[in-house]
Amino acid sequence: MSASQMTVAVVGTGYVGLTTGVALAYLGHHIIAIDKDPRKIELLSKYQSPIHEKGLQELLTTARSKITVTPDYEPAAEADVIIIAVGTPPKQNGEADTRFVEAAARDIASVLKADRDYVVVVKSTVPIGSNRRVASVIEKVLAERGVVTRVTFASNPEFLREGMALHDTLYPDRIVIGSEKDQAISTLRKMYQPLLEQTFDAPSFLPRPASFPLPPLITTDPTSAEMIKYAANAFLAVKISFINEVAGLCEKVGADVLEVARGMGLDSRIGPKFLQAGLGWGGSCFPKDTQALQAIAGEYGYTLPIIHASREVNARQRVLVLEKLQSALKVLRGRTITVLGMAFKPGTDDVRDSPGMELMQVLLERGVHVRGHDPIAIENARNMLADMDIKWCEDVEESMKEADAILIATDWPEYKHLPWNDLVKHMKTPVIVDARNILSHYDFDGNVNYIGVGR
Ligand code: NAD
Repeated sequence: MSASQMTVAVVGTGYVGLTTGVALAYLGHHIIAIDKDPRKIELLSKYQSPIHEKGLQELLTTARSKITVTPDYEPAAEADVIIIAVGTPPKQNGEADTRFVEAAARDIASVLKADRDYVVVVKSTVPIGSNRRVASVIEKVLAERGVVTRVTFASNPEFLREGMALHDTLYPDRIVIGSEKDQAISTLRKMYQPLLEQTFDAPSFLPRPASFPLPPLITTDPTSAEMIKYAANAFLAVKISFINEVAGLCEKVGADVLEVARGMGLDSRIGPKFLQAGLGWGGSCFPKDTQALQAIAGEYGYTLPIIHASREVNARQRVLVLEKLQSALKVLRGRTITVLGMAFKPGTDDVRDSPGMELMQVLLERGVHVRGHDPIAIENARNMLADMDIKWCEDVEESMKEADAILIATDWPEYKHLPWNDLVKHMKTPVIVDARNILSHYDFDGNVNYIGVGR
C-alpha cells in the first residue's frame, strides 16, 4: 500500500459517497463503489452520474479507469479502507435511522478476509456512539464466521455542501478523523495526503481557490468527531434562522435586512456567509440533523432551546412567505401561481425537504393552480410529487404566462438574469414574491408588486 495508491471501497453512491469516491479516484486511489440501488449501478456502470453536481460527470469520466462499480460487497474484501456513506434519514421520532449503516456494516463483515488490515470508516452523519455500534456489529459477524482479521474503526464526518460537493471535497476547510486507533488515523492520513498537502493537479473545471490554505487534519476521539458534524450543521441552521428572525423585525420597523446583514457580516467575528434572509433552510441535512441532535440531547434528559427555536423560526418563515402571497392576492383559491425553484438550493437536483416543494403542496391544498419550474431538479420534483395536480414547465418564460403571481423559492442565478419587466407583461397580475431576495436590485417598472423578505 503506497500513499498514492490505496484500494478504497465506498458503500453508498449518493451525494456524499459518489463525490468522495470520484475525488479519491482522481487522487489516484482504486475505488470500489458499492450501492444497492440498481438504477444508480446501471448509470454508474456506464460512468454516468446519477446526480447533478458541478464537475462530477467530468471527473467521473476522467477517473473512470480507477473506479469499479458493483452492487456486491465481495470486492470490498480487497480494500484497505471501507467508507460507509449510506443515508441516515430521520425516523418518526426525529432520531437518525441507522438501519442502512448497520446493514452495510453486516454486509462488510460478511466478506472481510482473514489476517488482513482494514480500516472501516463511518462518513454518514450518525448519532453519538454509532462508531462503537458499527464496530460491535462487525466484530460480532466476524466472530460468527470464525474469521480473525485486523479491523480498526474511524469516524470521518463529511462537511461538503450540495451544489459545491466536489469543490468542497477537493478543497476542504478541514478533515476530521475520530478514532481510538493510531493505525486507522495513519491510514486515513495517507489516504487524504493529496488533499492535506494539495499535491494533485487541480482539474481545469474546478480550479483551486486563490490563496487556498492547506486544510488541517483534526484527529480526535469518535464521539467528538460525531459531535463536530452535528454541532457544525446546527450552528449553520441557527445562523440562517437568526437572520430570518431579524428580517421579520426589519419588516416591522422599516429596516432593510440586506443592509443589516451586510453591516453585521463585515464584522470578522460574524462573517457574511449564511446571513441571507429568505425562505429558510431545507434539504436532506439541516432539518434532519437538527432534529437528530435534539433526539440525542433527549436521551440524556437535556434540552437544546437555541436549536429548538431555530427550527421554529424556520417553519414560521415558510408561513410568512405564504402570507405575503395571500396579502398581495387577497384570495388564493382559483389563482395560478408559478413556483420557481424546486431544488432546496441552487447547484443541486436534490429536492428532499425543499421549501419550494413544501409551499407548492400547501398552495395546492389552498385551491391554487400550481406551476413549477426548475433548471435542473424538475425531474426529481416531478417524481416526488407525481400524484399531484401540478403543471411542470420546462420553459421558465412559459411558466409565467397568465400567472397571478410568481414565487421565487430557490436562488438559481438563472432567475436573476431574466428580462423581468418584459415577462411580467404576460402575467395576469404582476405580483412577484421573491423569497430569496435575488431581485432586490432589479429596477422593476412601477406597476410591478415586488415583495422581498425583510425589507
Ligand atoms: P443519499 O441518499 O444521496 O445516498 C445514500 C446512498 O446509499 C443511496 O444511493 C443508497 O442506495 C445507498 N445505500 C443505502 N443502503 C445501502 C446499503 N446497505 N448498501 C449499499 N448502498 C446503500 O445520501 P447522501 O446525501 O449522500 O448522505 C449520506 C450520508 O452523509 C447521510 O448520513 C448524510 O446525513 C450525510 N451527509 C450528507 C451531506 C449532503 O449534503 N448530502 C453532507 C454531509 C453529510
